[in-house]
Amino acid sequence: GMKCGIVGLPNVGKSTLFNAITEAGADSENYPFCTIDPNVGIVDVPDQRLDNLSELIDPKKTTPTAIEFVDIAGLVKGASEGEGLGNKFLANIREVDAIVHVVRCFENSEVTHVEGSVDPLRDIEIIETELILADLESVEKKIENTERKLKSGDKIYEEQLEVLEKISSTLEEGEPARRLDLSEKEKKLVRDLNLLTLKPVLYAANVGDDDLIDGNPHVKKIEEKAAEEKAEVVTVSAKIESEIAELEGAEKELFLDELGIEESGLDKLIKAGYRLLGLITFFTAGEKEVRAWTVKKGSTAPEAAGTIHTDMERGFIKAEVISYDKLMSAGSFANAREEGTLRLEGKDYIVEDGDVCYFKFNV
Ligand code: GDP
Repeated sequence: GMKCGIVGLPNVGKSTLFNAITEAGADSENYPFCTIDPNVGIVDVPDQRLDNLSELIDPKKTTPTAIEFVDIAGLVKGASEGEGLGNKFLANIREVDAIVHVVRCFENSEVTHVEGSVDPLRDIEIIETELILADLESVEKKIENTERKLKSGDKIYEEQLEVLEKISSTLEEGEPARRLDLSEKEKKLVRDLNLLTLKPVLYAANVGDDDLIDGNPHVKKIEEKAAEEKAEVVTVSAKIESEIAELEGAEKELFLDELGIEESGLDKLIKAGYRLLGLITFFTAGEKEVRAWTVKKGSTAPEAAGTIHTDMERGFIKAEVISYDKLMSAGSFANAREEGTLRLEGKDYIVEDGDVCYFKFNV
């Protein structure tokens, strides 16, 4: 599954947001393999299509796809220098697919700011500097290592060194590696480093409830910064999120209506995370279970099958595929089969967002 790490300075609203996430939490019976880790929250990815498919098929069970949030508290100024705790937090960030950077944009004299005032760009820079320093350390070690291997004459080390040098000079300028726009090939050459500043970033601008709709000058500044570095910004009010998280269905709709917003900040975060990571959803739909699954855009049918079970990828024969729209308009699989909209696809088929798939495989 996809994992987002929540970072930010102390007192910006991380725990409030994380608590909202765990409160909204996914049905834990769907994730029995997940150990109970207080720093991990799993939430369902909201998808109207899944609800509609479930209504059409009327299965025993309906299972949404999920996304994991990891609370990485404790990342403070100087974390990259520390031998102990600070470094442990940085190691936790290495394991996530994307970073949700919570930035304080609310004024409240009763909540102390560690730096004395509300200043999102300064706050972002403090956290980013720690990540840049940590990356610089890994890149420098790797450069030394690669220079030694160069003597073997293998061309791959030359190419690798070239990318490493490029990243190193960017980091030295105080810029995150993601600004470089590395090619897929270049990224592959440094993948094992798991660089923190190569991970996609989503800024969660935490505002007071009055600013939820129109934002405020603090949010504007983050939006400008994000536009330059191809990051995304989602405006949330962590406090309101924790109230929304306690509601469901019609009650939730009503509350959102009252606030004048269409979706919760959490739902916006999830969707932005999906976009940022290039993820798509496909469905499986049988009488036992209708279920949504997450894969990377560009995945083949066997790879998609592999997210369900590795045996299904290994023994993949073919897939019966129909788009969500076509299935809904046909009204049933039987109709779709008659109309010829249910297709047979082979191992090279690239799965599309909204595909409903039935995989045939050898055990
Ligand atoms: P963390 O240290 O980043 O985890 O911050 P917390 O979530 O513990 O929040 C710090 C303080 O800010 C708490 O007293 C929260 O109630 C308050 N706070 C968090 N989010 C908001 C918000 O959206 N608006 C206001 N006014 N206060 C908030």
